[in-house]
Amino acid sequence: MAILLENASVVTLNATKPILEARQILIDDGTIAQVGRKIHTEGTPITKRIDCSGMIVMPGLVNAHCHLTEILQKSFRDNMRMEIWRGYRATTEDLAKLTAAEIGTAAELACSEMLKNGVTAVVDHFSTRPGLSVDKMEAVLGAFEKTGIRGMLVPSLRDQDFIRLATQSNGRKSAKQTAPEPWREEVLTVLARLRRTRSHCGMMLGPSSPMNCSDALLREVVNVAEQFDLGIHTHLLETRLQSWAAHQIYKKPLCVHLARIGFLSSRLSTAHSVWLDDREIDLLASSGASAVHNPASNLKLGSGIAPVAKLKSRGVNVALGTDGGDTSDSYSIFEQMRLAAYLSRVVAEDPTNWITAAEALRMGTVNSAQAVPAWRGKIGMIRSGYCADLILLKPSLRLRPLRDVVHQLVFCEGGQSVHTVIVAGKVVVEGGDFTQVDENSLIRRVEPISRKMHRLYSRIKKVPDRSQKITRELYKKALAAKGLPVRFLTK
Ligand SMILES: [Zn+2]
Repeated sequence: MAILLENASVVTLNATKPILEARQILIDDGTIAQVGRKIHTEGTPITKRIDCSGMIVMPGLVNAHCHLTEILQKSFRDNMRMEIWRGYRATTEDLAKLTAAEIGTAAELACSEMLKNGVTAVVDHFSTRPGLSVDKMEAVLGAFEKTGIRGMLVPSLRDQDFIRLATQSNGRKSAKQTAPEPWREEVLTVLARLRRTRSHCGMMLGPSSPMNCSDALLREVVNVAEQFDLGIHTHLLETRLQSWAAHQIYKKPLCVHLARIGFLSSRLSTAHSVWLDDREIDLLASSGASAVHNPASNLKLGSGIAPVAKLKSRGVNVALGTDGGDTSDSYSIFEQMRLAAYLSRVVAEDPTNWITAAEALRMGTVNSAQAVPAWRGKIGMIRSGYCADLILLKPSLRLRPLRDVVHQLVFCEGGQSVHTVIVAGKVVVEGGDFTQVDENSLIRRVEPISRKMHRLYSRIKKVPDRSQKITRELYKKALAAKGLPVRFLTK
């Protein structure tokens, strides 16, 4: 099916020609076939023409780190640090015993929210309780296919608990590991199916965080990634507690250890990356790994301000992610772009070190695509040969009056102008409505599952939990510790 976009004002994200006026874009077989003033379509039967007069055409936004099923716990909690928050989230999930169908429904809602807000590709760092299973991973892939979003499933893996390790007097040697999940067979089963069906979905491997994985597991992940040519995605040094614990466990900066065991490479993207010191930033840069900035989540959980300007200046590709529906309350990349630009201004006095609108827009498109090996050079820009993942915006009042498109897309837009969304050459949102999702039915299916989880959370939050007491005590030590990077404005 070939689609011809006409009279388009195009934000290309191409560095040499960022904006093109009055263009035609030919989409054929899921790909951007041509971009030009008057292109030749002989031999290509056009099945759909879209008049883009008055609209802005831009690449779909890319969410390089999130947790889809966390949408069931959207905005459940406030005023708690990450590790305390995580304990509540996990216990709520344990009690809820979500079925594969419920997981699929949740993922469908999160993907739908993103599509309507201009996100056309998403990395789902997928964890579930009690553990991974083929049917649960298939449920997430099913949600990608039902909604039409380009999805990357990243099953979360772990075989140890860093908080327990940090409380052992001699760290790693004495700590008892939890039984490793039999992940390999399940993950490879799902991967084989994915590759057979030529779906526009893919898979990466996702150690939950390096400190929650033994070295043996991290090495196994690297081996499997190399064998099957997969990307790797992980949380990295998100909080001060993790920064402090890393020194207790490894007796050296965490990234120095990871470089030694061969974990850092251009296959890798690291979510948050808040507490890396200068040496670790250089190691990340020289390995070719990408960092994924999650400003809303870091702000809500008080995790600290990621050193984005430094990461960029040392040569690290910095992408954007929303994190989950409770840690940042939405799956909006428009919101992350604006927050990334704003946050850069509270840590740098010199305006030349602030993140500009153009840089923020690149972070939410090209850079986020770059963080995923399978998407590099394929999405995030509008140019011939790229996948046809693009969005058409009909400027809402938030974009009026409209003078500087790039500036206003970052600082004014919130998703309200998203009119039409095309993924892999298929129109999945048209005139603001889904073409393949029944929104009302989806909401009716999700609400009872979320209500059940909220009831469970209301019960557990009243009961004092011993492990949370330990975490709070450790946090006090971490906050008092000397020699850690400065990532809070008050420290
Ligand atoms: Zn996360």
